[in-house]
Amino acid sequence: MTVKPYDIHAPRYVRAGECLRCGKCCVAEECEHLTTVDGVATCAIHDDPARPLCCVLFPEVPPLPYDGCGFYFLDRWDDNAVVRRHL
Ligand code: SF4
Ligand code: SF4
Repeated sequence: MTVKPYDIHAPRYVRAGECLRCGKCCVAEECEHLTTVDGVATCAIHDDPARPLCCVLFPEVPPLPYDGCGFYFLDRWDDNAVVRRHL
């Protein structure tokens, strides 16, 4: 009998967590749409369909490039182990 340990057609990592609005990824992109509301980093086009897809999808896979980012990943190849690896 052949045992299939995981579905190779499904993404290995599933993003979880949430954006804590530190603004680090937006600052790194020197994005013109980054502003602040009550001292918190805010995307001026967050709900606009014109918001870049790379922003919607970020972060896609580990490692996380910015320390303190509120996202993490679940590793489907490792029983949904939590991955919080940073660069
Ligand atoms: S680095 Fe993470 S927590 Fe900070 S603004 Fe970007 S997505 Fe949000
Ligand atoms: S479009 Fe919004 S989410 Fe994307 S980098 Fe600019 S401020 Fe950040």
